[in-house]
Amino acid sequence: MNIVILGAGQAAASMAAKLRALGHEGRITVIGDEPAPPYQRPPLSKAYLLGDMDLDRLTLRGAEWWDEHQITLRLGERATGIDRDRRVIVTDKGEVAYDALALTLGASPRRLPAAMGGHLRGVHVVRNLADIAGVRPELVAGRRLVVIGGGYIGLEAAAVARKLGLEVTLVEAAPRILGRVAASETADMIRALHVSHGVEVIEGVGIERITGDSAADGVTLADGRHLPADLVICGIGVAPETTLAESAGLALDNGIATDAQGRTSDPSIWAAGDCASFPAPDGQMRLESVGNAIDMAEAVAANILGADAAYIPKPWFWSDQFEAKLQIAGLNVGYNRVVTRSGAGAHGGSVWYYRDGRLIAVDALNDARAYMIGKRLIEGGKSPSPEAVLEATDLKALM
Ligand code: NAP
Repeated sequence: MNIVILGAGQAAASMAAKLRALGHEGRITVIGDEPAPPYQRPPLSKAYLLGDMDLDRLTLRGAEWWDEHQITLRLGERATGIDRDRRVIVTDKGEVAYDALALTLGASPRRLPAAMGGHLRGVHVVRNLADIAGVRPELVAGRRLVVIGGGYIGLEAAAVARKLGLEVTLVEAAPRILGRVAASETADMIRALHVSHGVEVIEGVGIERITGDSAADGVTLADGRHLPADLVICGIGVAPETTLAESAGLALDNGIATDAQGRTSDPSIWAAGDCASFPAPDGQMRLESVGNAIDMAEAVAANILGADAAYIPKPWFWSDQFEAKLQIAGLNVGYNRVVTRSGAGAHGGSVWYYRDGRLIAVDALNDARAYMIGKRLIEGGKSPSPEAVLEATDLKALM
C-alpha cells in the first residue's frame, strides 16, 4: 500500500513513524509546503521565540532518520487539489499517486483584515518558522509591543517579549483572557502573573484598527483609546485547514469530519491533528494541541493498517509563561462547577472542573502534583467529590 501524508507537521511525523513501527513496508511519502522538515510548534511561542532553543532541537527528526526509515519528504511543495477518482494529489510540482491518503494539514492563524490594518508591516502572527524569522528580530528591548488576543499564543508571546525587555500591552476583546479554554479562576492566576511582570492587560475592549501608513504605529481600541506600538502580534485564534478537503468534496463539520477511526467521508482518505474533527458526545470535536496531533495520528496510522480501533483522546496541554508552568489535564467542555486549591508558590494553585458532579478537567499552575493526580483520576474515570478535593491535605489520598 502506497501511503501519502499531506501536511508535514507534528501529526505527519508521528503518523509516518507509527506506520513504520507497526511494520508497514510499502511506500510512505510526506508532502509539505514549508521548506523545513517536520518540527515542533509549541516552542515557537516559548523557548524558540525567546532565543533559548536552536533549530536543530526544534526539528523532530534529522535527515538521516527519514532516509533510514525510507520515508520520502517532499518539502516546499504545495498541494493544489485531490483527484479522488484517480487517487492522485495534484501539486505545484506535479502529481503524486496514493492508495491511502492522510490529511494532516493543521490550522492557519486568523488575521485581521486589511481594512483593520492587518496587512501593515510590523503586524505578526506566531504559527510557523517563517513567522518567527519575521518577528524575532523585532523583539528589541525598549520597543512597544501590542498583543491582540489573550489566548495561549498572545499570553506566551507577551511573556517572551517582556522577558526581552519590551513594553507590552495585551488586549483581549472578550470579557477576560483565556475565555475559550479556561475558567475565570485560572484566568485570574494568569492575569496576576502577567501584571506582576509589568504586562498591561486590557480586557473586554475590542480593536478598532491597527494604525499606520505602511507600517503599524499603534492600535486604536473600540473605546477610542490609542496605544502607540512599534510592533503588533495577533494571537486571535486559528482556523482548520479545510480548503483542499472542501474542494475535493469531503464532508466538513468543524474541520475535516472523520469517523471514530479517523476516516473521512472518502474511505481511502484519513485525517488527524488540528484540521480533523472526530465524534464526541457533544458533536464533532476538534482539538488544537500537540498531544492530539500525536495521539490521533498514531491511532489513524494503526487504522490505515486495519486496526479498526476508535480514537479516544486523552487531552492534556501545557503553557510556559514567565517562571510559571500551566498544565491542563482533561477537557473542561460543559463544566458547571469549579473548585480551587491554592498552591505552594506565589503564582500557583489548581482549578478542578466538574460537569454534573463528574471531574472532567484540572488546570494546575506551578503545581505538578495536582496535574499528575488530576490526570490519573480523569483518565481512570475516577471522580472524587469537590468537597474531597477542597479538604484533602494530601491530594494523593484522592487516588
Ligand atoms: P485562541 O486560544 O483561540 O485565543 C485567541 C483569543 O483571541 C481568544 O481569546 C479570542 O477571543 C481573542 N480574540 C479573537 N479576536 C480578537 C480581536 N479582534 N481582538 C482581541 N481579541 C481577540 O488562539 P491562539 O491563542 O491564537 O492560539 C492558536 C492555537 O494555538 C490555539 O489552538 C491554541 O490552543 C494553540 N496554542 C496552544 C498553546 C499551548 O497549549 N500552550 C500555546 C500556543 C498556542 P474569542 O474567543 O472571544 O474570539
